[in-house]
Amino acid sequence: MKQINLEEYKHIWVYAEKDPNGKIVGVTKELLCAAKRLQEKLGEEEKVVAVLLTGTGDISEMTKELAANGADRIVVVQHELLEGYSTELYSKAMCNLIELKKPSMLLIGATTRGRDFAPRVSYRVYTGLTADCTELDINDQGLLSAIRPTFGGTLMANILCKKSRPQMCTVRPKVLKKPEPDYSRQAEVDVVPMELDASLVKSKILEFLPFKIETGMSIEEAEIIIAGGRGLKCSDNFKMLEDLARELGGAVGASRAAVDAGWRDHHDQVGQTGKTVGPKLYVACGISGAIQHLAGMSSSEVIVAINKDPDAPIFQVADYGIVGDACEIIPALTEEIKNLKIATGAAS
Ligand code: FAD
Repeated sequence: MKQINLEEYKHIWVYAEKDPNGKIVGVTKELLCAAKRLQEKLGEEEKVVAVLLTGTGDISEMTKELAANGADRIVVVQHELLEGYSTELYSKAMCNLIELKKPSMLLIGATTRGRDFAPRVSYRVYTGLTADCTELDINDQGLLSAIRPTFGGTLMANILCKKSRPQMCTVRPKVLKKPEPDYSRQAEVDVVPMELDASLVKSKILEFLPFKIETGMSIEEAEIIIAGGRGLKCSDNFKMLEDLARELGGAVGASRAAVDAGWRDHHDQVGQTGKTVGPKLYVACGISGAIQHLAGMSSSEVIVAINKDPDAPIFQVADYGIVGDACEIIPALTEEIKNLKIATGAAS
């Protein structure tokens, strides 16, 4: 193991991920908000630093967004080779920055890119990585407690990185608290010049094709999710959920049991091995509420459960519960909503 002086490593870094349109992604904002909470425990001398790797265009919108969401400082590397995401060049640039600036912590979103990028960086700078965290804290020795489910979600592991730096982790989108942006906040911008070598690039992204869901909306973007489980009995019964989702302007999700049965695509799966969602309304139909399912939806604002077993664990997290047969309740609910829309003139 590489010997380092831990005292030299300071500040909480958050990797500022952009989407293909150059907008800062939601999980970066959630991480900045979490980093602020960590900073409160560590003291003001530990700064929250956003790290932006980007092309040579205007960065003012991105830096404004990062400052508004909690960054005290923004370390920027601008280079024409960083215009689009590249595994090799982004990892190289981040490793160079770590060697140069010595951060104590580095938090990265567990997005497709974050999952590609984080392990490469941690391996190259000889540190550990806790992947897919659901909570972050500071322990009594001032170390990052990276908390994540383990043993199939039945236990929470609290993982420390005692001897190497930075303390690195990835965190799933939508499991941490959403920040309230403050656009009056200012951050110091530190532009770091860097040489990068194009010959490092082994693969290139030629085009970005967003995934299209047949029902029009993915569960990650939906503010209303109607999810079904094994209790729905067959794939045909998911049509009822689609009707209700259409009336409410939402998307259809599924438990793993429904996906494993082949009733829904894996893209619709909510839970530990599926997507983490945080909609305004989550309606769980014929879903028992196993801990692995709850891991993906318990941060929803309002949860409604429909289950014929009054003792189903889903009722423990539900704000509203309906005990009964989902196949009777869902069409009745859809009908009521249609009638209400007609009565209020909201029907299209
Ligand atoms: P069940 O547990 O079988 O529940 C069906 C429910 O439907 C019951 O509560 C029953 O009372 C009710 N019901 C039956 N008929 C009706 C009816 N007519 N009307 C109303 N209610 C009815 N699961 C996930 O969902 N997502 C994950 O990402 C995930 N990851 C996992 C990862 C690991 C490592 C492991 C070990 C498991 C994972 N699971 C996951 C599986 C999880 O443990 C459960 O097995 C699964 O969530 C159960 O799905 P379900 O609630 O649809 O089915």
